[in-house]
Amino acid sequence: MAQRITLGSGGELEVPDEPIIPFIEGDGTGVDIWPVSRLVFDAAAAKHGKKVAWREVLAGEKAFKETGTWLPTETVEAFRDHLIGIKGPLTTPVGGGIRSLNVALRQILDLYVCLRPVRWFTGVPSPVRHPEKVDVVIFRENTEDVYAGLEVQAGSPEAERLRAFLHDEMGWEIRPNSGIGIKPVSEMSSKRLVRAALLYALAHSRKSLTLVHKGNIQKFTEGAFRTWGYEVVSEEFSDTAVSWGDCEGNPGDKLLVKDAIADITLQQILTRPEEFDVVATTNLNGDYLSDALAAQVGGIGIAPGGNINYVTGHGVFEATHGTAPKYAGLDMVNPGSVILSGTLMFEHLGWTDVASDIVKALEATIAEGIVTYDFARLMDGATEVKCSEFAGAIVDRL
Ligand code: NAP
Repeated sequence: MAQRITLGSGGELEVPDEPIIPFIEGDGTGVDIWPVSRLVFDAAAAKHGKKVAWREVLAGEKAFKETGTWLPTETVEAFRDHLIGIKGPLTTPVGGGIRSLNVALRQILDLYVCLRPVRWFTGVPSPVRHPEKVDVVIFRENTEDVYAGLEVQAGSPEAERLRAFLHDEMGWEIRPNSGIGIKPVSEMSSKRLVRAALLYALAHSRKSLTLVHKGNIQKFTEGAFRTWGYEVVSEEFSDTAVSWGDCEGNPGDKLLVKDAIADITLQQILTRPEEFDVVATTNLNGDYLSDALAAQVGGIGIAPGGNINYVTGHGVFEATHGTAPKYAGLDMVNPGSVILSGTLMFEHLGWTDVASDIVKALEATIAEGIVTYDFARLMDGATEVKCSEFAGAIVDRL
């Protein structure tokens, strides 16, 4: 019988054999990639005697057409009540009241971790010589930093008031006609993000956790993130993890926690990607880093993501690319990002057998050169297939 996923008394997810999972199909190419991804999910679950009771909820253009709102309350409530959901890409309404539907969902449900695993799959075309060396799991803070939306427009009365306040109260000189943004980074948010990354790294037997920051310049935001991160290690994880400073790079059987400046990190993920394993970082750094890493392993068509609150149990898994409207309805684009976001969701639910079967079947499909247009144009001798045919090939290999 279809049932909700619930949160156990110890804070762990309790997942029935037939969980109800709300989904948003997504705008643009959502109509292409969601239905075929669902076929893959259902086939893999059935192989293990499991089933998902999918429940469609509306957001984006479909919601606006049917209800007059971009993000109906029922959709947010469905995600709230059922804890875990999945979504396709959504159009960001231009000139609408909501800055971004994705950012809105993350903020309403306080989904403080943006989880982005980045690894290479055999056969995927890549611009680097050793894409197989990339196997990084990024924990990006999802609620603060410049994404908090605290900005005033140059020349506006608000900007002038803020400028005057900063001059009078703080002695800070800001040039007339400046846009001003505020970057909040709190101890609570930094620590819960690093805590989640540490728990993940330990549970998955990873070698190291790197705190990526720009603390040499932004000392009280990025620098504080680093300090608070190390505090979590020494205050809460001293039995299982150790900072570089406390072991001089020899962690023994503990997890090694180190840190790196953001700009150097962007060089080193190219020159020595094997040194990065799990990464915890602030919001904007995480945005740059995950796209740069995704490019190294074949890019946007297969980059999965999850937005998670590990305390309340809420999680929304999503394709990380946009709606690619020029391809909508053409049965052409790569469904890999939604498919891999689904595997991330199944792993999170403890359905690791379902997840690993999908990953293996996807990898086998690509390794045989059966790919959608985006990969085919970069590969010699590939067999270019439609979006639905690619998903069908994965199902055949499950
Ligand atoms: P986009 O939709 O990600 O598309 C940019 C390019 O990425 C496409 O033209 C295509 O490249 C490639 N691409 C995207 N999805 C692909 C797929 N499934 N398979 C293969 N290639 C894929 O970015 P955009 O055009 O900047 O944004 C369009 C809309 O999406 C906007 O409204 C934006 O706000 C929204 N958006 C939503 C999300 C989200 O919901 N998470 C994220 C980003 C953007 P080629 O043309 O080279 O083939």
